[in-house]
Amino acid sequence: MLFNTALLHDGADLKETHGATLPPVYQVSAFHHDTAERMADIFSHRAPGYNYTRVANPTIAAFENRITKLEKGIASVASSSGMTAISTATLNLAGAGDEIVSSNGLYGGTYYLFRDLRSLGITTRFVDIASRQEIEAAITEKTKFIFAETIGNPSLVVTDIAMLSDIAKSHGIPLVIDNTVATAYLARPLEQGADIVINSSSKYINGSGTAISGILTDGGSFDWKSPKFPEFADYRKFGKFAFIAKLRNGFARDLGGCLAPMNAFLNLVGLETLGLRMEKACGTALELARWFSDRCPGISVNYPGLETSPSHQTAQRILKNGFGAILTIRTGSRERAFEIMNRLKLVYRISNIGDSRTLIIHPDSTLALHNSPEERVQSGVYDDLLRISVGLEDAPDLIEDFRQAIGGDR
Ligand SMILES: *Cc1c(COP(=O)(O)O)cnc(C)c1O
Repeated sequence: MLFNTALLHDGADLKETHGATLPPVYQVSAFHHDTAERMADIFSHRAPGYNYTRVANPTIAAFENRITKLEKGIASVASSSGMTAISTATLNLAGAGDEIVSSNGLYGGTYYLFRDLRSLGITTRFVDIASRQEIEAAITEKTKFIFAETIGNPSLVVTDIAMLSDIAKSHGIPLVIDNTVATAYLARPLEQGADIVINSSSKYINGSGTAISGILTDGGSFDWKSPKFPEFADYRKFGKFAFIAKLRNGFARDLGGCLAPMNAFLNLVGLETLGLRMEKACGTALELARWFSDRCPGISVNYPGLETSPSHQTAQRILKNGFGAILTIRTGSRERAFEIMNRLKLVYRISNIGDSRTLIIHPDSTLALHNSPEERVQSGVYDDLLRISVGLEDAPDLIEDFRQAIGGDR
């Protein structure tokens, strides 16, 4: 099945849903059982079933199964937000005294998480993810995983997943990739050698900005019998499902960041049009990027689809079907950036990406607020930079809006 067909049909079980094309919303906290024995069996995983929605729920399970198929993994765990997915994955792998090697061009929320984890004794070494040398030099005996984003937000650095996978394998550690900005439409990190992939489904998977949620998917590729992971001893009996078993019986359950069934349903609705939306938004983003580059002197544009992007060659290897729906522009000054933002009529000033509407933000005064000047530059944030998340509007309308906001004759 090709991409769009699979989104609609792969994993759909209409027998289970009495013919309904989408699963019902099991909007309950807990589930009744006929007998005490059956209840005990489900609690001890001897029988399939549901007890309590914080642990599992059929609507959430339907969403997890769809994403597992989409990302070509073996199992997924959905959560209340993308940050929950990243933090529980991290805590499933690393504890006090351990280290993480991460891209320095990360989404701000993840950067803050890795920084704050120092208080729990987990140290992150931030590196230029394009530099094999820097990554190799940062890996120590204590490193538990490598972390990067397929397309950095907002650096728009495209990660060479195959190279990272090669490094991770040679050190016997897993590679965790945040695929939020690319989505499975542009890249399937598990097929390129990542071991675990994470999506903030608040973004393109949901597609309309109606719910915060996250999901992680295990590729089943890492060998958890590795002596580097003694904490997995109790879970090795689950074979390639050891990571998910440890997570479900550990921090996913303990921290309680479960997804709401209604939000799982909203994501399932959004998921059906992921391919169509990405195709449209990526096309418009390229058109807009070319327009900025050709017609707007004084403004420099960064988009992986332009030959001028430092990531263009990697993007051509790593991404298929397009170059993403996010671009950034540098306007010359913070004042000019604010002026352009304030003049926009169609484009919303919103701190989000992956909405059906086009959104703009000035990261330096918002998303990167808690970063030092040095950290900002490392993560690709400048005081004259605007990030644009291209939506589904028609390209000429967006160009017209930017034309009038920038002013002059173009
Ligand atoms: C938004 C985002 C997150 C965090 O997801 P939430 O659902 O907001 O918690 C993580 N990574 C990337 C790349 C994001 O864009």
